[in-house]
Amino acid sequence: MKERITISVSSVNGSRQFHLGRKSQKRLRLAGYFVLVASLVTVGAMLYLVNEVDFAKVKQEELEKQSYSMSEELDVLNQLKSDLESDLDERETRLSTVSDRLGELENLLGVSTDNDARLETRLDVAAINSAVRIAVLDGLPNGSPVKNARRSSQFGVRKHPVSGKKRMHRGLDFAVNIGTPIYAPADGVVETVRPSNKGSGNFLRLQHSFGFTSSYSHLKKFAVRSGDFVNKGDLIGYSGNSGLSSGPHLHYEIRFVGRALDPSSFVDWGMDNFELIFEKERKIKWASLINKVEQRVSMQLQLSSQRDAILLESSS
Ligand SMILES: [Zn+2]
Repeated sequence: MKERITISVSSVNGSRQFHLGRKSQKRLRLAGYFVLVASLVTVGAMLYLVNEVDFAKVKQEELEKQSYSMSEELDVLNQLKSDLESDLDERETRLSTVSDRLGELENLLGVSTDNDARLETRLDVAAINSAVRIAVLDGLPNGSPVKNARRSSQFGVRKHPVSGKKRMHRGLDFAVNIGTPIYAPADGVVETVRPSNKGSGNFLRLQHSFGFTSSYSHLKKFAVRSGDFVNKGDLIGYSGNSGLSSGPHLHYEIRFVGRALDPSSFVDWGMDNFELIFEKERKIKWASLINKVEQRVSMQLQLSSQRDAILLESSS
């Protein structure tokens, strides 16, 4: 290495010379190294930063995409929520309609249940009650056996229209033209079909449930035979004027284990005034009878609900 370095700088004013000693040369070299390292660090940092910016841009794009799909998902969820809410509203409305209807039915049936009772319990009570009514009104005579007929003679002691003697009238007379159709006032079986021109004339008797019978006298014609099963409302014969009769009419009797009852209460009886008969006809142990029907009906209801459960099981 040279001992000294001489640097000449020429200008218009002449030339100047700088002499660099060993120490100065070393300092200059160090400064050079420093500048080089600093430049490298700066370039490295710049490259790193550029890279970082690119990465951040990609990340931002990704996040934007994610945010968009999440807001779409949120819209779907909100739609679902509002659908579910309106569905729930509709169900609540329907349930309250059912509850109201059930309340009306309970009123009609005269069933008093706690309004806080479960709907299922209330439905069971109403179902049993209405099933009992249907069973009783199917099995026991109720309503008129002839349509729109005037009642011409009531049940009770009266002067006989033919003999003129005071006698017990064991039935109810309807003033009807010859040939008026007569309908069964309950389900039953035809016990007697007896043609005759004496006394009761052509005579028909039906057996119903629980020891009740109904009979029809002075008929013109029969529409059923002994042993036939009939449903409530079936045509059983036509009214007439046969036997000991002062004019065309139907003599209608209802008996319970052979004892004659006033048919008027039974003619007036129906679904709308189901409990009327309990007050009007005191010779029957109604509570016991209703109890028996209730037992049978609730067993049948149970059986049918079990059958439904079995059907559901086997179908699934
Ligand atoms: Zn009569």
